[in-house]
Amino acid sequence: MEVQQVLHMNGGVGDTSYANNSLVQRNIISKGMPMLEDAILDLYCTSFPEKLSIADLGCSSGPNTLFVISHIIDTIKKKCHQLNIPLPEFQMFLNDLLGNDFNNLFSYLPDFYEKLKEEKHVSLEQCFVAGVAGSFHGRLFPIKSLHFIHSANSLHWLSQVPQGLQNEMGISLNKGKIYIGKTNPPSVFKAYLAQFQRDFYLFLKSRSEEVIGGGRMVLTLCTGRSSDPSIKECFFHWELLAQTLNDMVSQGVIDQDKVDSFNLPFYAPSIQELEAIVNREGSFSLDRHEVIEIVNFTSGQNVAKLIRAITESMLADQFGAGILDDLFRRYEHNVDVYLSNEKAIIINLVLSMTRKE
Ligand code: SAH
Repeated sequence: MEVQQVLHMNGGVGDTSYANNSLVQRNIISKGMPMLEDAILDLYCTSFPEKLSIADLGCSSGPNTLFVISHIIDTIKKKCHQLNIPLPEFQMFLNDLLGNDFNNLFSYLPDFYEKLKEEKHVSLEQCFVAGVAGSFHGRLFPIKSLHFIHSANSLHWLSQVPQGLQNEMGISLNKGKIYIGKTNPPSVFKAYLAQFQRDFYLFLKSRSEEVIGGGRMVLTLCTGRSSDPSIKECFFHWELLAQTLNDMVSQGVIDQDKVDSFNLPFYAPSIQELEAIVNREGSFSLDRHEVIEIVNFTSGQNVAKLIRAITESMLADQFGAGILDDLFRRYEHNVDVYLSNEKAIIINLVLSMTRKE
């Protein structure tokens, strides 16, 4: 699977779109807002620039990214009002991979600009929004051109499925699994970690060129460790997806080989793993981090819609689009059974960093 071509959240505004199935992500963003506010105010109040260049990396096609940038504008506006100084100009860059439905994202802009003008009294000559298509694992912006970077729910996606998930004979080491599970050999875990280390290092290296000294980044991504010992499984959604695919194999609906060779380009690092990469790359200091736990998974239907909006492009690429309705009907049922016995949780980390001078 060529991740950069295949990976994209479901576009448009239909029933299975990311735009209509990203409330969990919105919830995660909201819980990280206090750290975002602190970071943007710290940045603004050290030099009061006339213009703030801000990028949201992995913005997707739904309204969450505009929710973030609107909140950033509100935060700065409140500060300017308190200090009785004019509002800076904002240059907002919204980035995602080339397959992202930017058209759908841009369709929210008229309403966004209208609200800026009518409700926030921010002139349209003060806020410029642009789309930037490309991978955040490489350079996206000119040298020293950004003050602030935000990225939510995106950096756990890898640039490729890790190599080394097969032995020398080409046999899958991750049979029947689609991510790291409790029963995988350690080599699977190692292959995933190594890919994340490469990707996150390249992310930091690229941003280190683009962000000015003293510039800030606030990043939110999945992590896999809960402090609550009653939580058995932090990736219940992936475990159940694998289980559902295996059920379909045993009923002859899909081929075993297809499941054995399917692995998600996803890794949820621990804070220690992240800190080690930040220190090795060396351009940013990690000022603060916080753990956010989301536990409000109410029904199999909601989880199925959320996971379908995220994974449909990859599943269709591997198994064909024809199985998706059946797959997600079964998945919904499996999630309902799981939720009736277990506490379901998704854990995220918010990191606040500063570009060293
Ligand atoms: N930030 C939004 C969207 C998160 S969905 C929110 O919180 O709701 C994750 C997004 O990251 C997807 O749209 C996916 O296409 C994007 N993404 C994954 N890898 C990427 C990469 N290498 N470069 C840019 N965007 C990427």
